[in-house]
Amino acid sequence: MQVESLEPSRQDQVVAATLECIRRSERLYARTFTPPLITFDLTGRSAGMYRVQGERRQIRYNPYIFSKYFADNLANTVPHEVAHFIVNALYGRRKVQPHGIEWRAVMHRLGAEPSVTCRYDLSGIPQRRQRRFEYSCACNTHAVSAVRHNRAQTGKGRYLCRQCRQPLVFSGGEL
Ligand SMILES: [Zn+2]
Ligand SMILES: [Zn+2]
Repeated sequence: MQVESLEPSRQDQVVAATLECIRRSERLYARTFTPPLITFDLTGRSAGMYRVQGERRQIRYNPYIFSKYFADNLANTVPHEVAHFIVNALYGRRKVQPHGIEWRAVMHRLGAEPSVTCRYDLSGIPQRRQRRFEYSCACNTHAVSAVRHNRAQTGKGRYLCRQCRQPLVFSGGEL
């Protein structure tokens, strides 16, 4: 059975929880953070994604995975993506691993479990026809197409981030 997209009232709940998590971070770090854009336009296998495009910071949530596993995503995906945003706000483009010690430290301060792999049963979740693989550089997360992923993995292609000029490294995950 096809899972329905997350209903608007529950999207509001997720946005409120995200903003509350950011306010909590402001108290913990004794500074302000201008909240990122929060959207529900992520599809595929990941529940959430944080990305920076120029000046634009964005947390993207997957409305189907949130719909199927609402409580779990509210408790785990929200602080997970907020922690990426906080690390980016604190360290900017300095070289930090996506789920490295800086990110884990923020997760601990938020009282969240710093686990990376959350394997959900995705039956009923609409999937993209084109697969996308998650790569990271020093500043961001990138979605790489299957063709480019195969080239990179067979040594036939090497890709650089246009912003930080660092090579894109496969994070082991699929988006
Ligand atoms: Zn992450
Ligand atoms: Zn970069």
